[in-house]
Amino acid sequence: MSNIIELINAAGLTGRGGAAFPSAIKIKAAKENKARLIVNVCDGEIGAAKDGWVVANHLNELLEGVALITSGHAKPIFAAHRDSTTARLLAAAGLKVLEVPHRYVSSEETSLISLAHGGTARPMTKKAPFVFGGQRSDGKRIRPTVVLNAESVWRVSQISRRGVDWFRSYGTDAEPGPRLVAVGGFVSTPSIIEAAAGIPLMDLINLAGGLDPSVRFVGVGGLGGILLTADEARSAIWDTPTMKSYGGGLGPGIITVWDPRQAAAHTAGAMIAYGAGESAGQCGPCMFGLPALSADWNAFAMHPGADSHRRLQNRLTLFERRGACAHPDGVSRFATSALRVLGPELLQSQPYFAGGNQPTEVLSYV
Ligand code: SF4
Repeated sequence: MSNIIELINAAGLTGRGGAAFPSAIKIKAAKENKARLIVNVCDGEIGAAKDGWVVANHLNELLEGVALITSGHAKPIFAAHRDSTTARLLAAAGLKVLEVPHRYVSSEETSLISLAHGGTARPMTKKAPFVFGGQRSDGKRIRPTVVLNAESVWRVSQISRRGVDWFRSYGTDAEPGPRLVAVGGFVSTPSIIEAAAGIPLMDLINLAGGLDPSVRFVGVGGLGGILLTADEARSAIWDTPTMKSYGGGLGPGIITVWDPRQAAAHTAGAMIAYGAGESAGQCGPCMFGLPALSADWNAFAMHPGADSHRRLQNRLTLFERRGACAHPDGVSRFATSALRVLGPELLQSQPYFAGGNQPTEVLSYV
């Protein structure tokens, strides 16, 4: 079996950026349409770091993967955040770098395609996958373009070099292959770990220094992910079925141990406020809905009670597939999960923000 598409298909590689779409289908369409390849190295999710790690440690294999995917018919573009170490490494290697602004949604797939075609780094409505070509909202044509994250491209080269059996010797039948995960937050040794689906979540946390007894919560997947209690994390298997039972998935390979010295309701509120502030302001449910969600979260955290709880729960029903991109879905998924974990405790507590200060500051929870 020498055809790279057949190999990727037999290996069962799925995208390592979070959506877990079968890579063989995407790469086959890219080849058939002679699509330009954008390699996403932004690590745009909160707590992500693995794609930059691939550039820093496996650049030659990454380029080998690029060559297998493009067959040399179009020069690849590497998308990295402006002034980042990764952007500098790529430029030093003589590669074409698309410098991406430091906004949360700027590294979303269609944002990168827009930016690469002279537009702004904002998500575009996707009538059909851009691998077939498309149009910007101002009518400008967009040539066939495919976005793959760096780890996915690196895995293509590994499958080609080491074979399907090697790849499938990692993970589960349903989720085969090695995959990277960044374990950070309140751990002694924040680490990028070569892991595989199906292992205990605690094995990954232990490799980063373990779970301090004072820890109460563990995030999986960043702002688009979920929150677990420490007890749930201690017994959870790191695979999609288990994470799905808590409302999420494996996501883009992020595990964040929450700092027990910081109030979890405040941390969650700051993340939701950050998500609201990162809307690209193009779709009503996102532009107005996320700030309203943030306000409802703060109202519940400050005055936990049946009314504020119900209002927040109702708000959380209003986001599913309502934006042009998945940003509102991701933030509402996280908020739903945080409410599941933190809600009962808040409802039994005294008002949390006794001084009336709203948790509007953002972001250094990792
Ligand atoms: S859902 Fe939000 S982030 Fe996505 S395109 Fe619409 S306004 Fe922009």
